[in-house]
Amino acid sequence: MARYDLTRDEIAALLVDEPSYRVGQVWDGLYHQGTDPQDLTVLPRRLRARLADADALAPALQTDLALDADGGATVKWRWALVDGRRIETVLMRMSGAVTNARATVCVSSQAGCAMACGFCATGQAGFDRNLTTGEIVEQVVRARAEASRRGWRLTNVVFMGMGEPLANYDRVWPAVRRLHHDVGLSARHLTISTIGIVPGIRRLAREDLPVNLAVSLHAANDELRNRLVPINRRYPLAALTEACRVWHVAKGRRLSLEWALIHGVNDRRSDVAELAELARPLAAHVNLIPLNPTPGFTTRGTPPDGVRAFRDRLADRGVNVTVRHNRGTDIAAACGQLVAAAAGAVPAVGVAR
Ligand code: SAH
Repeated sequence: MARYDLTRDEIAALLVDEPSYRVGQVWDGLYHQGTDPQDLTVLPRRLRARLADADALAPALQTDLALDADGGATVKWRWALVDGRRIETVLMRMSGAVTNARATVCVSSQAGCAMACGFCATGQAGFDRNLTTGEIVEQVVRARAEASRRGWRLTNVVFMGMGEPLANYDRVWPAVRRLHHDVGLSARHLTISTIGIVPGIRRLAREDLPVNLAVSLHAANDELRNRLVPINRRYPLAALTEACRVWHVAKGRRLSLEWALIHGVNDRRSDVAELAELARPLAAHVNLIPLNPTPGFTTRGTPPDGVRAFRDRLADRGVNVTVRHNRGTDIAAACGQLVAAAAGAVPAVGVAR
């Protein structure tokens, strides 16, 4: 248990011998200002000293590494958790303006991941454990504090860091609620990215808050998707697209499909045709990301001209499509690379073409 795992009642219990307005001051300090309780100058010195010693209010994240990338537009952290496990968080400035720019934070939902996608650095390293709600929320609060120091406004959160958020639903959803109700970020600016955990998508369709959904598709036929994304054997494309349809109808929000372009594997003309057939009925928006190299995967990303051709062919078939770029490649800190570097090299695997 750390500071952002506590409910307001649990904080009140820690402050039981104090005037009741102290609860609001500590809560406000944690959630609105992102300030350590011991640094809250509205509190008397003796109370600050007591809170500094309270284990339940200790931070969950210790900075293990913090790096600037992309000419100062990206900040990446590798945090050490209380049990020594490592996770990553990425803060990205979105618009070109340097002051008052909007920023997005990419958060981890698990230490490691059990989905075992061969092209993903986290998948190559395997699963350690679920993050707690507080460990997820603290990534956002810490990133927002850094954004303010840089004159940026943190407005968006994407669950696209380490882990599969819908495999940790019972901690991720309370984190979403905290971010919306207490941290003050609009649910419409929160995006859950999933490899396609069908029961989780159906559960999201029944939730009250209107978060965005991104599905990491990468292949639109079961034979290829089974190879790239092992969980496809459990939740094949027919079940996945039906769950996406249910979500889209229930929420009335645009679905995103993520597609990491892998040279010679999922960037062929047949892939364009299959993807268009799947995306169009769902009115989905496709995000293309050239595959980022990872130590354990020998196949490379599609070269820039191939990315453009894929995008144009998809657009010709009436699909909304955007090309995205991985942040932090310039300092070897893209997707999962910080933790992979900390853990040492992982054995190389390839994908048969
Ligand atoms: N498990 C969730 C969220 C984490 S991955 C999910 O699968 O959606 C976030 C995104 O990064 C996913 O779309 C994932 O497929 C993509 N990704 C993983 N490894 C990548 C790589 N090496 N290059 C480019 N994108 C990658």
